[in-house]
Amino acid sequence: MNKKNFSKHLDLSNYTTIKVGGIAEYFAEPRSIEEFLYLIKWSNFNHQRCQIIGAGSNLLINDIFITGLVICTKKMKSLTINPNSGIVEAEAGVMLPTLSNSLAKNGLQGGEWAVGIPGTLGGAIYMNAGTGNLSLAKNLISVKVINNKTHKKIEIDRKDILFDYRFSSFQNNELTILSAKLYFEPNGNFEKLIQTTKNNLKLKTDTQPYHLPSFGSVFKNPKNNYAAKLIDDTGLKGLKIGDAEISTMHANFIINNSSASSKDIYELITVIQQKVLQNKGIYLQPEVRMIGFDYPN
Ligand SMILES: Cc1cc2nc3c(=O)[nH]c(=O)nc-3n(C[C@H](O)[C@H](O)[C@H](O)COP(=O)(O)OP(=O)(O)OC[C@H]3O[C@@H](n4cnc5c(N)ncnc54)[C@H](O)[C@@H]3O)c2cc1C
Repeated sequence: MNKKNFSKHLDLSNYTTIKVGGIAEYFAEPRSIEEFLYLIKWSNFNHQRCQIIGAGSNLLINDIFITGLVICTKKMKSLTINPNSGIVEAEAGVMLPTLSNSLAKNGLQGGEWAVGIPGTLGGAIYMNAGTGNLSLAKNLISVKVINNKTHKKIEIDRKDILFDYRFSSFQNNELTILSAKLYFEPNGNFEKLIQTTKNNLKLKTDTQPYHLPSFGSVFKNPKNNYAAKLIDDTGLKGLKIGDAEISTMHANFIINNSSASSKDIYELITVIQQKVLQNKGIYLQPEVRMIGFDYPN
């Protein structure tokens, strides 16, 4: 691998929205699918572990030395929208707010909810990110992937991908998402779409600590319940460990007040799990993915 492809010993705290993370042994931000494929192959041939990150908005990375290669997709952001057919082709690194705003401006309906999610398309498909019962799974036609082991590039139809609440089959396979093809309904009512998109963003910023470093909801909502309510009812809002705090605005958010370590955050997660289990008899499953911890993702 030549120098222009990657950095060595990069501080990952600049690549997560909660602003913590360790040091990546190797780090790369490919600008094209070709470069992305090359990096995946490079790590395989050199027996280096390879971890993919998008915008790092659902990630807790331990502040330790992370061996191997970390690939960030954020610079793979080609986006093609056909306003007549409603067909959208986007690379993995396209940000959801960009997608959402671009859809509205092109008169395409169905992406207005995604404006407040600060993640990439690849991360959103992997996590099946959404709000209420809305997610990109509804609009997906197909996903182009590379098999991390065989390096085979294939296109998978939507019907062959499993989606559930904050789950996609990509969490259980060895595929990396390169790009996706989606369909959004041509609507033509630009003004209404733009206004709804704006309102959705306002709703998020009014109810969540959007201005502070966090990774969104820490825990998945248990069946017929809300993690935020369980945490709030247990009296945990405002609890701090080091500089990590359970948000007083939204109990399912942990915020980094300035210099929280990943261990502060991890400990806070464990304390919440213990207290809610003692108080409510419910074990909260993290939604957040972890790198460098001994926690089963
Ligand atoms: C303020 C705030 C609000 C949020 N609101 C919401 C919300 O309303 N709804 C919601 O669902 N989430 C929400 N989130 C969480 C987060 O934004 C989503 O889960 C998002 O989809 C994660 O995308 P990402 O690009 O940041 O992924 P990352 O956090 O970088 O990665 C998440 C996982 O996806 C994998 N991954 C990323 N890209 C790829 C790829 N190309 N191929 C294979 N695997 C990949 C990573 O390996 C990792 O396991 C919020 C987060 C914040 C900070």
